[in-house]
Amino acid sequence: MADPRDTPAMQQYYRFKKRHPECILFFRIGDFYEMFDDDARTASKALGLTLTQRTEGVPMAGVPYHQVEVYLRRMIEQGFRVAVCEQVQDAMDAKGVVERAVTRVVTPGTLVDESLLPGEDVRTLAAACFLDPGDDPRGRVALAVAELSTGAFVVLECDGESLVDEVARRAVTELLYADTANGKPPPRVERVLTALNIAGTAQPPWHFRPEEAREALLKLYGVATLAGFGLGEGEAAIQPAGALVRYLRITQTTDDGENGVAGNRPAPTLAHLLPPRRESPGEFCHIDAVSLRSLEVLRTIRSEGREGGGRGDGRGGWEGSLLGIFLGAGAAGCRTPMGKRLLRDWLCRPIRDIARIEGRQRAVATLVEDRRVAAALGEALGGVQDVARIAARIALRRATPRDLVVLGQSLATVHAVGAAIADSPAFSAAGEALSRAQAQLAGLAARITSTCVESPPAHLREGGLVRDGVDAELDEARLLRRDAAAWLAEYQKRLIEKHELPGIKVGYNKVFGYYIELTSSQARKAPVEFSRKQTLRNAERYITPELKEFEEKVSTAEARSLEREQAIFQGLCEEAAAKLGAIGELSEVVSELDVLWCFAEKAVRRRWVRPDVVEPPVLRIEQGRHPVLDELLGSGFVPNDAELGSEGGPEAGGGVGAGGGGGSPTLALITGPNMAGKSTFIRQTALIVLLAHAGSFVPADRAVIGLTDRVFTRIGADDALHAGQSTFMVEMTETARILHHATAHSLIILDEIGRGTSTLDGLSLAWAIAESLANPPRPTGTSPRALADGAGPRTLFATHYHELTDLEERLGGRVKNLHVSVREWGDQIVFLHRILPGRTDQSYGIHVAKLAGIPTTTIARAREILESLAVQHVGELAPAGGVDRVVGEAGGSRRKAVGGQRPPGDGQLGLFTEYLAHPAVEALRELKLDAMSPIQAFDELRRLKDQVEKA
Ligand code: ADP
Repeated sequence: MADPRDTPAMQQYYRFKKRHPECILFFRIGDFYEMFDDDARTASKALGLTLTQRTEGVPMAGVPYHQVEVYLRRMIEQGFRVAVCEQVQDAMDAKGVVERAVTRVVTPGTLVDESLLPGEDVRTLAAACFLDPGDDPRGRVALAVAELSTGAFVVLECDGESLVDEVARRAVTELLYADTANGKPPPRVERVLTALNIAGTAQPPWHFRPEEAREALLKLYGVATLAGFGLGEGEAAIQPAGALVRYLRITQTTDDGENGVAGNRPAPTLAHLLPPRRESPGEFCHIDAVSLRSLEVLRTIRSEGREGGGRGDGRGGWEGSLLGIFLGAGAAGCRTPMGKRLLRDWLCRPIRDIARIEGRQRAVATLVEDRRVAAALGEALGGVQDVARIAARIALRRATPRDLVVLGQSLATVHAVGAAIADSPAFSAAGEALSRAQAQLAGLAARITSTCVESPPAHLREGGLVRDGVDAELDEARLLRRDAAAWLAEYQKRLIEKHELPGIKVGYNKVFGYYIELTSSQARKAPVEFSRKQTLRNAERYITPELKEFEEKVSTAEARSLEREQAIFQGLCEEAAAKLGAIGELSEVVSELDVLWCFAEKAVRRRWVRPDVVEPPVLRIEQGRHPVLDELLGSGFVPNDAELGSEGGPEAGGGVGAGGGGGSPTLALITGPNMAGKSTFIRQTALIVLLAHAGSFVPADRAVIGLTDRVFTRIGADDALHAGQSTFMVEMTETARILHHATAHSLIILDEIGRGTSTLDGLSLAWAIAESLANPPRPTGTSPRALADGAGPRTLFATHYHELTDLEERLGGRVKNLHVSVREWGDQIVFLHRILPGRTDQSYGIHVAKLAGIPTTTIARAREILESLAVQHVGELAPAGGVDRVVGEAGGSRRKAVGGQRPPGDGQLGLFTEYLAHPAVEALRELKLDAMSPIQAFDELRRLKDQVEKA
């Protein structure tokens, strides 16, 4: 039996498949894209298609051509790569199997087409190169990140632990890595892929080798050395950058037909890809992936389960997030998709440079104060479309007629943007950059607008892009086409008169072309010059030499006019391709102006103020508000103050023993019942700090924000990022990270540390963590590296362990207590959401449980237990899983010493101290070993042992 795979079409299919083994191959056959074999099985599962057979034993699945974009999107969402193989020859002209070519390779990190990549969506491609051998998660990594759809390209080095943060912040959707012997991603890649649910793509290891990588970069940029890009000889960043460029070349610029058939289109280029820019971690206020998520900067945690969620990449889902208040419905958000993308970037990567922050602030202030300038700028920006992405499509030869027209219109409106800001000193640099770009682009803009119609067709295949009067040849061809109807009518009239046959009709049919029709009864009288073309049931159709000639003229005119349009379109695209640099500069300025405008509108509408960003690590926020809740609740939101650190530096306030008075604590402990507003308060503080570093105004009456190197958060149970670990393990891993990396310039937000374990463990840990943040241990071999300089980071610590509030007294001046006020009303409570100095004495757990709808009988029983426990032994634990730690009536006796020493005058042992302040421990502590002989020491040891055993 003949091999079903041995047909010319299948052979051709396998040749393409061999060239793109990592891709699912969409193979165009007529009106379908077909997949075969394993591809068919995979796609039928991924897309829910029916699996059929082409011939016996060859599995096949297909998607209709007109819906290909929908299916491509779904494949990409699931992390697949697809090579689209088109028919590039008219089937009629084919001798044997029709010519085909892979015209695009679509991968999760390299989307550029509007249909697959909405304007505000950011998707980048990254390549990671591990510089240390083995799998040390802390090893150094060189990372290159490129956004093919705009040409942005950066390289950086980071430690392995920060890799996931860098990848998350930069909206990476596909990560390239060097292939391994076992064909699986190495563990340090796998960690990133699973944590962020992104696609990983293995590349041959030699792509990452320094020499080969360097060569790829030199070739792309046509340079002899990379030194001009700040990439010196032997620089590690060259490796991933080169691998990334090679991947782009392979997937984007190979237009691989079999016989050069596809080669008559201009070849795609990567001309828009900017030279790699080196970024240093010190430029930014670092916000890790966990914090981006828990502070809900890009999307809410709730929205993550929904489609497209979990990536924080801006694909919708930002309602309710920080980004959402700028972009959501009703917000005077950014005016351009470029601005929306830049805003996302500024929020994820706030800067740590006072001069740059103040530069942004000055621009925002100008727009806040001068509403005429703001109105003019907003209006002008509205006329600029996504020129950054159009530039990319022009380089990659994927621009549509619409792209070209929109580019022309946008370039033409740029002068209005320049005019709007011309007189504002805060915008002088932007103004200059704009005029530079404009000067280079004015000619192109004029040519596009004078050449093209305002509403162009979606495809060039129907024609209709070029205006009349632009090209004589085109005009003539069009005239002929337009005049065809008139000529036919005139010809018909002439024939009727000449042959005295009133029934003659002259017509046109797509398949058979032009014809003269006579009814069957008149056919007998057909003149000799009529040659028969087609016989119908009641009629005969003929052609004459004159009509034939006309037909040829019209059809060549049509082909000629399409050709002319194609040539004119390509000419303009070439012209634009020569100006990619200027278009890039222009889109950069426009997107910055757009974000600044958006910040200003928010400031005006929501009464945000300009924060003072200062060098010392302080925090002084008066009447701060949560940017998102404030909008939701309106006047119902209760503003609060926050104050930490002093301008004189961390030690300037009061050191240990200053008794709290007049000191400048760096750690605030916030207690209060559940639902009181603790989380909201600490999050709002972090968000205000973030906004200040992004250059925005902030929701407060006044704010002084010390420059911050990192924002750390540890909020709530966060299993999603650490699948397979217990909640407590996650909590401790994150806390360990904070203790290792926080510096005196960091901001730390901790919510309910120690919840995931037993109360005693949890309290001990919370205590020790708070202590080492407020009063970092002196440097020793094992103490946390970053904090060892004795200065505490600004920390907001929300906790339900009231015992911790003792720290205020014990670490005088370094810790202060805050609580969220609650008003009792009989056995009801009212949350006031106001943060006040001092501690709370009650946890109100039972009140909150009641509010939550726990049945009254259960509530009554809980009260009974609480009372009996409080009487039995002050400080005993609540029943397992209790709503809150059970405490006695208000009064000092509940708060027991937890640290090394018992407070003076406290005669009663608390629950906690029973373990830590055992008499034997106390006696051990008092021992003066230096004054004892070995024998005395041994006797003492024996005595202590007896004491413990008797107890
Ligand atoms: P906690 O962390 O103390 O359990 P949350 O911060 O989660 O409490 O706040 C619970 C709810 O209280 C919030 O969802 C919000 O509706 C409301 N809330 C919190 N802070 C404020 C505030 N300052 N003004 C008005 N409502 C607030």
